[in-house]
Amino acid sequence: MKYCPNCGKEITENQNFCDNCGYDLINLRKRKSSKTIFLIPLLIILVLLAGAYYYFYIYSNTPSQVVKNFISLLNRGEVIKAINLYMIKIKDFEMPNEDEIKTFKGSILSYEIVREKIVGDEAYLEVMVDSRNRGKNTSYIKLIKINGKWMIYPEDMESFPE
Ligand SMILES: [Zn+2]
Repeated sequence: MKYCPNCGKEITENQNFCDNCGYDLINLRKRKSSKTIFLIPLLIILVLLAGAYYYFYIYSNTPSQVVKNFISLLNRGEVIKAINLYMIKIKDFEMPNEDEIKTFKGSILSYEIVREKIVGDEAYLEVMVDSRNRGKNTSYIKLIKINGKWMIYPEDMESFPE
């Protein structure tokens, strides 16, 4: 059941003017349909953008994106997930314990990838990290490409390889 937007009296679907107040119902229908027409391309664009975002920022397989994803998971406290997704578990690799995991959550205030060097299946990143616990410090991260996917190699590097 439809009602006149002006006076509230009941109206039928194909009525052009309101019987009660004379309100123009033709223009009202036009306005509604043009809004719908405008919304469809907008929705398509939004869906495409969301897809592109998902692909390039979540699944793009570059050393710097892997490091960004890794850091963002650590910062959310999803440490085990971060390690399982993005880290190589070499011999003697130890998973952090509950207490260590707690200290990760929200600890990275900001970070910046200063430089990146890719040599074949190895990549090196210099990252400036500002963390709540340690302040500003530079980290050197090594990544290795395994089966086409970049993974963080858990080895401390003293400096950036020149
Ligand atoms: Zn009316």
